[in-house]
Amino acid sequence: MTLLLQALHFAAQRHRDHRRKGHDGAPYVNHLIEVARILADHGIDDEVLLAAAVLHDSIEDVGVTHKELAARFGAAVAGYVLEVSDDMDLPAVDRKAGQIQRAPTLSTGAQQIKVADKISNLHGIINSPPTRWSHARKIGYFRWAHEVVSACSAAAPALRATFDSVYRNGMFLLESAPTE
Ligand code: ZN
Repeated sequence: MTLLLQALHFAAQRHRDHRRKGHDGAPYVNHLIEVARILADHGIDDEVLLAAAVLHDSIEDVGVTHKELAARFGAAVAGYVLEVSDDMDLPAVDRKAGQIQRAPTLSTGAQQIKVADKISNLHGIINSPPTRWSHARKIGYFRWAHEVVSACSAAAPALRATFDSVYRNGMFLLESAPTE
């Protein structure tokens, strides 16, 4: 538990000025907790993986380094976070394609974080839609997330099934309300 609480404390501090894109502007840490909770809800209780889930956006979004994560939380946690981090020097279109290409090469743990992250993001788009996103952009995100998760074949089947259900329900809602 200590490792997980330390990770939560660190993530809450580093993401303190960071908010979700949704219209409710929720604190970013809500998303980080949700990703860890989704894993735990699927029976994943490896504390190293849950700590990495809480830290999964720290390299990409708030400039934490792999070295700092390794020093604070150990090589295994830092390794997972690095695996799920995009290279922010690349243009967005390349990062998106890269996630699909790289997904099958990730460790099982990293693939599970990816799937839980996408479940949380789809929830967010439906429940608190990003204010500046067009309808087409939301649909585009759903389709891309589906491709990433389809490439995460090592992730637990129950986790992937949850994604499929959130995807189907969300797409149904989006397609029933096509105009904005
Ligand atoms: Zn995330």
